[in-house]
Amino acid sequence: MKKLLETRNLKKYFRTPRGMLYAVDNVSFVIKEGETLGVVGESGCGKSTLGRCVVRLHDVTDGQVWYKEKEISRLSRKDFRDYRRDMQMIFQDPFSSLNPRMSVSQIIAEPLIIHKMCANSFELGRKVGELMDTVGLARRLASSYPHELDGGRRQRIGIARALSLNPRFIVCDEPVSALDVSIQAQILNLMQDLQEELRLTYMFITHNISVVKHISNNIMVMYMGTVVELAPSPDVFRYRMHPYTKALLDAAPIPDPDKKRRREPLKGEITSPIDLPAGCRFAKRCVYASGECFSSDPLLKEYRPGHFTACHNTEKINEL
Ligand code: SF4
Repeated sequence: MKKLLETRNLKKYFRTPRGMLYAVDNVSFVIKEGETLGVVGESGCGKSTLGRCVVRLHDVTDGQVWYKEKEISRLSRKDFRDYRRDMQMIFQDPFSSLNPRMSVSQIIAEPLIIHKMCANSFELGRKVGELMDTVGLARRLASSYPHELDGGRRQRIGIARALSLNPRFIVCDEPVSALDVSIQAQILNLMQDLQEELRLTYMFITHNISVVKHISNNIMVMYMGTVVELAPSPDVFRYRMHPYTKALLDAAPIPDPDKKRRREPLKGEITSPIDLPAGCRFAKRCVYASGECFSSDPLLKEYRPGHFTACHNTEKINEL
C-alpha cells in the first residue's frame, strides 16, 4: 500500500518561563493508506501535540510532515486549505469541542458551509441527513443541542463533522477515553466500519494501549516527546521490548475479574520535560538502567523486522 503520511525528525518545542519544553522531539514515522497507527503514552508524553502538528493546528519547530508525497509543514495557511479538507481531527471531549449554542444539524453543516461544499440549502440538508445516517445518529435528533445528548451521541456528532469534508486522513485524539466502556466499544466499532467503507487512514492517539490493540496496524509508544518503541501491533504485545512498553502493558486493565496479573508499577521520579539532561528520559524510572543510560540518548534501532526500539539495553533485557 502507498504511503499517505510521513513525519521526518519532527520537533515541537515550547518556550516557557522555566526553560524550553521538548513536547515532540525528533519523531519519524510512516502511515500507509487505509491503515491505522496507534500512538500510545501517558498524559503529557507529547502524543496530542504530535497529532496537532501533523494537521497543522500547531506550527512545527523543525522537521517535516509529508502528505501524499508533498511537504506540507511549511505551506502557507492559504496553500494548506486544500489539505485541511483531507486531514481532519476528532477530539477527546466531544462536549467541549462542540458549540453548545448550535444544534446537531448546524454543527454538522458548519464545515460544509465554510468550505462551500453544497450548492443550496436543500443539498446541505440532504448531506447533513446522510452524515447522521452514516454515524448512526437518528435524524429526529437534528434539532437537539449537545447538552441534551449522551457522550456516545456527542462523539458521533464529532465524527460526522470530521467526515463532512470527505477526508482521507483523520487524527483521532483520545476519541473514546471520556466514554463509558460499553459506549467505547460502539464508537470503536463504528470507526472501524467507517475506515473500511470510506478507506480512511487513522492516527489514533490514546493513553490506554489495550484500546488500540485490535484497531492498529502499527503502534508507536511515546515517552516524554520521543518514540521509544514502534512495531506492528501484534509484535508490540508479543515482544514488548522497551521497559516503558512493558510497564504500560502491565498497567493496562484486564477485562476479566477472575484473571489477575502480576503488576510492576512504575516507580521513581519523572524527569522534568523542561531543559532535559543528557541520557535516556526514562532512566529515573527504569529498573534496567545502567551507567550509559544517564549519559547518552538511546537511538531508535530495528531489532526485529519492522520492530524498532530506543534502549541501550534492548539485547540484554530481551535476550536477543
Ligand atoms: Fe532503561 Fe536504559 Fe533502556 Fe532507558 S536506555 S529504557 S534507562 S535500560
